[in-house]
Amino acid sequence: MAATGASTAKRVEDAPGGMRASSVEHLTREQLVARVAAYHPGLDEERLGDAYDFARTHHGEQLRASGDPYYSHPVFVSELLVQLRLDQDTIIAGLLHDVVEDTEISLEDVRTRFGENVADLVNGVTKLTQLEYNSEETKQAENFQKFILATINDIRVLLVKLADRMHNMRTIHHLKKQEKRQRIARETMEIYAPLARRIGLYHVASELEDRSFQQLNPEAREAMTLRLQQLEAENKIDLERIREDIHALMDAANVKCRIKGRRKTPYSIWRKLERKQISFRDVADIFAFRIIVDGDAAECYRVLGVLHTVWSCLPERFRDFVSVPKPNGYQSLHTTVRASGNRRVEFQIRTEEMDHSAEYGVAAHWTYKNLQYGLDLDAARKAGLDPEANLRAFSELFQHEHDPSEFLEHAKLEMYRENVFTFTPKGRLIRLPAGAMPLDFAYEVHTAIGNTCVGARINGEPRSLRTVLNNGDVVEIIRGREPKAPNGWTALTVTGKAKAALRRLARDKEANDFRRLGYDLIRKALRRADIDPVGVRMDHIALRAGFTSSDEMTAAIGRSEYSTKELIQVIFPGYEPESSVDRSKLRLDDDHASEMVSGEALTPGVTLHLGQCCYPIPGERIIGIREPGQGIVVHSISCDRVAEYDDQPERWVDLQWTELAKTGAVAVARIRVTAANHRGVLATLCTAVAQANGNILTVNTGRRHEDYTDLLFDIEVEDMKRVTQILAALRSLAVVDTAVREQESRHED
Ligand code: MN
Repeated sequence: MAATGASTAKRVEDAPGGMRASSVEHLTREQLVARVAAYHPGLDEERLGDAYDFARTHHGEQLRASGDPYYSHPVFVSELLVQLRLDQDTIIAGLLHDVVEDTEISLEDVRTRFGENVADLVNGVTKLTQLEYNSEETKQAENFQKFILATINDIRVLLVKLADRMHNMRTIHHLKKQEKRQRIARETMEIYAPLARRIGLYHVASELEDRSFQQLNPEAREAMTLRLQQLEAENKIDLERIREDIHALMDAANVKCRIKGRRKTPYSIWRKLERKQISFRDVADIFAFRIIVDGDAAECYRVLGVLHTVWSCLPERFRDFVSVPKPNGYQSLHTTVRASGNRRVEFQIRTEEMDHSAEYGVAAHWTYKNLQYGLDLDAARKAGLDPEANLRAFSELFQHEHDPSEFLEHAKLEMYRENVFTFTPKGRLIRLPAGAMPLDFAYEVHTAIGNTCVGARINGEPRSLRTVLNNGDVVEIIRGREPKAPNGWTALTVTGKAKAALRRLARDKEANDFRRLGYDLIRKALRRADIDPVGVRMDHIALRAGFTSSDEMTAAIGRSEYSTKELIQVIFPGYEPESSVDRSKLRLDDDHASEMVSGEALTPGVTLHLGQCCYPIPGERIIGIREPGQGIVVHSISCDRVAEYDDQPERWVDLQWTELAKTGAVAVARIRVTAANHRGVLATLCTAVAQANGNILTVNTGRRHEDYTDLLFDIEVEDMKRVTQILAALRSLAVVDTAVREQESRHED
């Protein structure tokens, strides 16, 4: 029985996809022999049966992780090789591939009993099995593939190894250790699936990839599968109509053919989404058909003509692998057209023989020739494939690949399991780290969207910004008009991208706040000097005081880098403010720090700054840190920054608050309150603060979430005792979840 020719069609239907279907029960000796005899002329049935018994005897009582007897594994491996219709030496090598590694049998024993050929194959597979692939570096994958191709000297070694790996992947769920499953899956994804593709075993490659994908990235696979199912349900009617159109077209043109619908695998979609900035729909929303003509190459071009006459083709997607086959021998016409209803439809057009090659790859060239069943080198070369018996030719091809990226993309994929896969309403895939929330999503889509994000709808439902996203979620961001960092954003983000952008936003807002504060201070100073602020042009006095703009001036004053006293001096040279300043309301700022803080080691004239990280408050323990060129920065002893100087005690300066600070000054304490979303909650909080003798300067209301609101109070206090009292008063309220003194707000900068 010839392996190519008239019976091709029937054979393809028998074993679609090579190495595909497998029964749960392994074949008996008789069944295996019968299956091989059905396609293999000149089979030595005794010898094959002998190999079966040999494997069974020597694996003995050994068990697989599944609990099955070990010898069932080599039997399954040989069955996969039978589906590829390989020669008896290869089938026998499949049966014996583990005996040298796992039993007391030596390679010599195999050689004596089954001959040189089988022993070489078993030896090659054993060597491959012993290689330890460690994929710490992705570059390794490429080298490893080259290494395998260059060292094995018979393509059948690779075929047995692929069958071995296929059965191991099909039964991988029996392995208890996740680490081991991951290692095997990664090796399969990065080494063996690409090698299978390289020798034209596309179906083998796809299945290996999909099973590895399931181990390495179950969340991504699930997300893809869900979306594919949705899409399929949505498209059902359209698909049927297109299918009928194609049948009608082929009938009208009198083309004899088989038409197959093709489904995309979750992994194939995923790979494209990973590689390009395109949407799920762009990749998945294309119907795909294969037309297998009952004729020759000319008939393929005729079908192409029929399709292109009726529907317009997308020229950039047309590929002619019939006149120029792929290096592995693959032949087919690929075209994508715009069919009825503007649907994109992808076609592969090929003859039965080309289809057989595409299904079986290099294994398609095993035939009976010169009284021997085996690889027909001439036929293989004629098909554009030149493996010799030696794989060096393949490794050459590999090195001269036009587009090495296509081959290497598998190795480059990031297969982090710590991910969650979500979609925009238009279907673009957004990959985020596990635990990500809507703000992370928004920033991943676009910075402008993140900056204005005020809410989110997840799968159509309004949800809080605190919602942790799940695989497959479709997230729609609700946007406000102005860019604004929501209060409590540190707790609402996990990605560095979102955090960096929000930090920037918060900094801008802070600069604004300083400008406003500076403006207020100037107005107050002017009033004290009996000048009506309404008549004063800020831009003019800014220029006179040496600033380039009024914004620069107000910010400098707000930050206490420039005092209002100096400013008034500039406007009215010689003006001395009355010394009627209310010392009991002296604000604790850098200008007054020297009056508020004392220490034995302080030399007169040394510049003191209040820590912008911790806002020290009179009454709490403080410490000074010498900053070269800046003087001394006063920190609260509990400030995290202080810990950074643990190993530089020479920079520490002992400091205390002065009596003036303890009795006559006010400092600003920043307090963050998380409170239940009740009507009038703000009034309740303000009353409590006032009753505890706190003077509220500003309140920033955080955006309302489903059930809570974040509020940030700046409160004037005279000392730390007051802060403690205010916190206690707030915490005693039923509506308050937490109330804390905030010291970290600038810490993140
Ligand atoms: Mn094995």
